[in-house]
Amino acid sequence: MQIVAGTSLKSLGPRVWDPNSQYHIPSLTAVMVSYADFHHQPAQRRRAMEMGIHASLGIPDNISVFLDNGAFYFSMRGEAIPIRDYDEFVENAHPSWRPIPRDFIPAPNMSLDEQRQCLNRTMRVNRDYQHNGYVPVAHIGRMLHEYVAKIKANAQLVAKPRIALGAIVPNLLRAPKALPYKHILDSLIQFRNDFADKKIHIFGIGGTATLHFAMLLKIDSVDSSGWRNRAARGIIQLPGSGDRSIAELGSWKGRALSRQEMKILRECLCPACQQEGVRGLKADGVRGFRNRATHNLWTLLEEAKWIEENLAAGIYKEAYKEHLDNTIYRPLIEYLVNGLLKNQVSEKSKVRSPLN
Ligand SMILES: [Zn+2]
Repeated sequence: MQIVAGTSLKSLGPRVWDPNSQYHIPSLTAVMVSYADFHHQPAQRRRAMEMGIHASLGIPDNISVFLDNGAFYFSMRGEAIPIRDYDEFVENAHPSWRPIPRDFIPAPNMSLDEQRQCLNRTMRVNRDYQHNGYVPVAHIGRMLHEYVAKIKANAQLVAKPRIALGAIVPNLLRAPKALPYKHILDSLIQFRNDFADKKIHIFGIGGTATLHFAMLLKIDSVDSSGWRNRAARGIIQLPGSGDRSIAELGSWKGRALSRQEMKILRECLCPACQQEGVRGLKADGVRGFRNRATHNLWTLLEEAKWIEENLAAGIYKEAYKEHLDNTIYRPLIEYLVNGLLKNQVSEKSKVRSPLN
């Protein structure tokens, strides 16, 4: 699965994609920037349209640049979505990946009718933009199966090689404990099966634990800005565990590191820890932010590698129990693992059965 590092035009550092940067992370293959950022910085927007998005940001060509349409940002601020400007930008700046210019994100507290309205309006944009490499968008929630039906009913949309899923955070990851969310997980598994030929991207996945979830669902790519957001609040991430507070910044009081976790941290091989060690993570100002952000992104990429290797070796089902801290997402992961296990067994028994 490709991890797309969400970044911001306001402060591009740490330049984790840049081989000449002290923060370079060689295993990173993709970054995401939001059109909302370009929209608010006309000079940057113009430059990107003149030089192409890669050259204007100094991002090497072998790193994919995903563009977010900024729909969430614009709607949160009640700003009109500049569809024409977005089209013009996409045409000239040549991002490697871009969604339809606008989607209508449902909130879980909306009535079914309101959610259906979001779907109908988003589907209208999906149909209007079935051309030129725009990636159609669907939303996780009670309407997902209807998205599948509507996309399948449209010959052009169903032929698209890619699709993106939004709204994972409000609909699934915010309160996963009770698992009335089983049907959402089931509908995601179904979605993956229905669109087995497509590359699925999930927007806005948070930390290390949610990676497990996306990889079990065989999602092709996810983006996360968590590495930067957490760093700005003095938070670092560790393999298989949740957020830990390392620098006291702002009002957010996170869990402190245990002695064992500190030991893991001292052995960290990320570019930031290799240069400055734990002290660098604790630093304040830009230096501390860049060190923590680099460390967080490195940890995320390493976690993905761990999951991939353990799944490939067929030992994930047991290994994750040791590896994963007591995350609130554990019931979701358990549910998916059990589902996978069941499928694997039934595949085998199919082959072995003399009746087949
Ligand atoms: Zn580190």
